[in-house]
Amino acid sequence: MNGKVYLVGAGPGDYRLITLKGIDAIKKADVILYDRLANPKLLDYGRDGAELIYVGKAPNAHTLNQEEISRLILDKALEGKIVTRLKGGDPFVFGRGGEEAALLFENNVEFEIVPGITSAISVPAYAGIPVTHRNVSSSFHIITGHEDPTKEDKSLDYEVLGKLNGTLIFLMGIKNIGNICTNLIKNGQSPNRPVAVIRRGTTSEQDILKGTLETIETRVKETGFKNPAIIIVGEVVNLSEELAWFTKKPLFGKRVLVTRTRKQASKLSKLIEDLGGEAIEFPTIKIVENEDKSIDEYLKSVENYKWIIFTSVNGVKYFFERLKELKIDIRKIHGASLCAIGPATKDELTSRGFIVDHVPVEYRAEAIVDILKDKISAGDNILLPRADIARTLLSEELVKLGANVDNISIYKTVIPEENRNDLEDILINQNIDIITFTSSSTAKNFYKILGEDNLKTIEDKTIAAIGPITGQTVKELGLKLDIEASDYSIPGLVDAILEYMRRE
Ligand code: SAH
Repeated sequence: MNGKVYLVGAGPGDYRLITLKGIDAIKKADVILYDRLANPKLLDYGRDGAELIYVGKAPNAHTLNQEEISRLILDKALEGKIVTRLKGGDPFVFGRGGEEAALLFENNVEFEIVPGITSAISVPAYAGIPVTHRNVSSSFHIITGHEDPTKEDKSLDYEVLGKLNGTLIFLMGIKNIGNICTNLIKNGQSPNRPVAVIRRGTTSEQDILKGTLETIETRVKETGFKNPAIIIVGEVVNLSEELAWFTKKPLFGKRVLVTRTRKQASKLSKLIEDLGGEAIEFPTIKIVENEDKSIDEYLKSVENYKWIIFTSVNGVKYFFERLKELKIDIRKIHGASLCAIGPATKDELTSRGFIVDHVPVEYRAEAIVDILKDKISAGDNILLPRADIARTLLSEELVKLGANVDNISIYKTVIPEENRNDLEDILINQNIDIITFTSSSTAKNFYKILGEDNLKTIEDKTIAAIGPITGQTVKELGLKLDIEASDYSIPGLVDAILEYMRRE
């Protein structure tokens, strides 16, 4: 049986500009072929074990040519695979999607086209340029800029283009910009018509250069403005003075490294992205269940505890996971007062239907002791389900109050082995500006992975810690600490970063 092919538009760069149908096709795929302009972050939506093939079409450096790519898609489909071909922007706008589909048609392979948001209209939109505007422009034209207008075998008619007063949008035209502008002027366009070139639109590297048909070539040359960029010609360009919005976001242009676990990263990443920054996830910790069976004895007599104190979201998750595995009914814990170290931990308990009795004002161990010291009586049994590496201060202080404290390592934190070698490369080649640490272990593991010899690579980066304990760890590692949040939570960390940016 033949497989099936989805030709999917991945959008212009911002990975969230893909359709739900596009994401579905990525999830279904056995094989994903993606090129340079499709955001690689989209591959994270693929299933584990999906084959990922980069068919990067960098100008002048084709890894595979178009015929080879079309052939590869076909071959994979003939093997019975579900193939998702991710293409930048829209697959049918200068994407050669038509050729890929034609070969599939000839070979009786089923295919679907999932349109995408083309850079031609979305890149101007992120720069505050509407491609049509009442009383300013009532049409827009998407034109290849690849063709040399001075060559004999050209298919574009500049005599016609010269007469258009709608918005002209050239793709793939930066190298040719001089020819394009000259020919537009020669065929009737005003030399003063506004032009903008926009590079890597919708990403943290978005850059815009403005001029007129007469001046833009010189400006492009002077600044060394490079591909991938679109050229947009028309009076609508002037609207960007007022309507530019994306580059005004407080974290625009900032690339922030998120070192939390893969599962927990998204909350921080989303906040960064909403503020216009780019989140690069590189988990330095991985949480795993503690397989040691000795902790089960404590859970089997969970009804004996007067207090259960949770010091992390993971503590809550793994605690209840373990109860379920052991077939211990959660109704057994009806007698215990529940304490959570902070709002996220509290929310995790609340979402499971528990009312949390105590949350300290400050989210750390010392503060828990403060609020509980009058409430705990000597001889009270307390259960502390926590990480293997958690600080011991809390249990020591509770023991001083005369309580019987059972500390159980309900989960363990380990260094993820996958991608371990990529860190230096990410720090350098992906131009990270800010490194975030959301716990002492994210910082310690980062240090271990990077290695003492490579500390130079982070000298120029801003380092942010979620609170004073993590901050202390950063300093003890000999790293410079630039930002320390005073509210020890993810939104608090992001606020502290914003505050720092405002000051800088
Ligand atoms: N199918 C794609 C276009 C592929 S041709 C689409 O619909 O967007 C490649 C050209 O697209 C580049 O040379 C450039 O002109 C344009 N382009 C793609 N992504 C871009 C981006 N993020 N910013 C600016 N131009 C982009």
